[in-house]
Amino acid sequence: MEAALLQPELAAKIADLYGRMEQAYDLVARQLDFTCQGCPDNCCDSYFLHHTHVEWAYLWAGLMALDPARRQEIENRAAKYAAACAAALARGERPQVMCPLNEAGRCSLYLHRLMICRMHGVPSSLTFPNGKVQKFPGCFRCQEIVGDRQAVPTVERASLFRELVALEQELLGEQQGQRPKVKKSIAEMILAGPPRL
Ligand code: SF4
Ligand code: SF4
Repeated sequence: MEAALLQPELAAKIADLYGRMEQAYDLVARQLDFTCQGCPDNCCDSYFLHHTHVEWAYLWAGLMALDPARRQEIENRAAKYAAACAAALARGERPQVMCPLNEAGRCSLYLHRLMICRMHGVPSSLTFPNGKVQKFPGCFRCQEIVGDRQAVPTVERASLFRELVALEQELLGEQQGQRPKVKKSIAEMILAGPPRL
């Protein structure tokens, strides 16, 4: 198995999808007059796991573009992050540790940040094929803005998810369905190196 380096065409497709996620987010944020400016919190310490090889590989495309010393700094922070998360999980707590890619409050790989980083914040929903809808209320600040409004602008995730799944299938090709499922924090993706396919 070799490290999965994204073909330029597939990298362009995920960049395009990420761009459209951002547009969908920005539209709802504008409708709510919501920004992150002045936030007393930084939600980059939220504990999320990620599930696709294609996002993992695209994250690594960003890491590979950094100079080795900078990448090493990030890897060192990722190791500390992973240890702190493991300790919290062993105590039965949900980890709350700053993402190793966050530097002075900002994302150091902004163009390569993962889907959940692009969705968290504003209200969103996920409509399943059976019609069931899962709702995500957005971050605490956005929830304060929404208050008890009845009609709330929302990002619908389903079509964006489907596109991401299609890109995952394109990357995996014949290995689809034969690979163990991905369930990794960003730090674990960094420490593991690019996905091996
Ligand atoms: S998404 Fe919400 S919690 Fe996160 S930085 Fe923005 S305002 Fe703050
Ligand atoms: S990848 Fe970037 S945006 Fe996402 S949690 Fe880490 S620092 Fe924040």
